[in-house]
Amino acid sequence: MNRFLGFLLGLWLLSALEANTEVIAVKAGKLVDPDAGAVRSDQIILIRDNKIEAVGKNLAIPAEARIIDLSDKTVLPGLIDCHTHLADAPDEENHDPFLVLKRSAVETAYAAIPNARIFLESGFTTVRDVGVYRALNDVAMRDAINKGIIVGPRMFVAGAYVTITGGAGAMTGMAPDITLPWDLRYGEANSPWEVRQVIRKLAHDGVDHIKILSSGAVLTHGSNPHSQEFTLEEIQAAVDEASHFGLRVESHAHSPEGIKNAIRAGVASVEHAEMIDDEGMAMAKQRGTYLDMDIYDEECIQEQGRLGQIPKDFLQHDAELGQLQRDNFRKAVKAGLKMSFGTDAGVCPYDRSVRQFAMMVKYGMTPMQAIQSSTTNAADLLGHADALGSIKPGKYADLIAVSGDPLQDISILEHVQFVMKDGKVYKQ
Ligand SMILES: [Zn+2]
Repeated sequence: MNRFLGFLLGLWLLSALEANTEVIAVKAGKLVDPDAGAVRSDQIILIRDNKIEAVGKNLAIPAEARIIDLSDKTVLPGLIDCHTHLADAPDEENHDPFLVLKRSAVETAYAAIPNARIFLESGFTTVRDVGVYRALNDVAMRDAINKGIIVGPRMFVAGAYVTITGGAGAMTGMAPDITLPWDLRYGEANSPWEVRQVIRKLAHDGVDHIKILSSGAVLTHGSNPHSQEFTLEEIQAAVDEASHFGLRVESHAHSPEGIKNAIRAGVASVEHAEMIDDEGMAMAKQRGTYLDMDIYDEECIQEQGRLGQIPKDFLQHDAELGQLQRDNFRKAVKAGLKMSFGTDAGVCPYDRSVRQFAMMVKYGMTPMQAIQSSTTNAADLLGHADALGSIKPGKYADLIAVSGDPLQDISILEHVQFVMKDGKVYKQ
């Protein structure tokens, strides 16, 4: 190539680079900083492409910046839900897992697409999605979102439920001579070595964390939430094997022993945790294990029960667990345990997860603690505190805005008016 052509190419590359760099200045009337537990007024957030570049009161705004004026709003970091099932597609009128058997995997995947957009538009820019019946549908959904094929939050996915045969994460209740397709039994494991094998497959298939189930479940046929599932040895194998791939483990557990075994084995978080006892609380405190308690969705289980949309055995499993979970949530907050925000989205319709904030405040959190559970703490639980959870230079430009002061009235978060994810506005 001659020198002149090289020079032209250089100029073109430079201008192309500049044209592709977008600079946005967001004017925030109030800005919530959950890391510091503080609210600041009249802040400017400078965003370059998908990252936050600077935050402060009297920042010089570059001439090329596009200005988004939220000076009459309260701006918060994008919310994070640590317990969702976006890639499943429950039917509004039928919450029986058998529905999964009436649809192909592809049909389920298409039916789940709206969940992701609804979730993002309600203010959640990131989710930890903790399992699907159709294995790896969540991996595909995460990748489709990242490629811009569909709209949704940034997803961290589990790929499948790691469960004992007939356990809380298995498809159960069929006649014994029915053989399930591969994706409905992908996560079954019945020894420490089988657990390791399943986790090796999941790691190979590109998951971001591992979901195991160490007690029976409410929403599984033939299950007993009071029981223990997996041995301590099996859960330890899960945590150890996952660590080889840099993956963290969360464990579904309702029963006291299921909860304590999971904490002993070193999981990052216990999901649900209804029947956690004093010993379990002390262990969680000592080890810094997060409790991810879905204290809102009982409203939906009871509602669906009244409408006959949920199998009768599920309602029997659920008896008394709802109130117990809320009482233990209050105890855990008082004891100063690490708490993250997880709703089990899918049990309730996807636009209702935001309602859990008010429930958390009703059961003992301050509004700031409830916000921290879904930002600072959630980012820490995910292992991405450097990139998510607050509006700081170097982090992803994930922000939301509301009218009014959510620290005075937390239910304001049920009406998110502005959503930006990765520097791109999705709701305004
Ligand atoms: Zn769940």
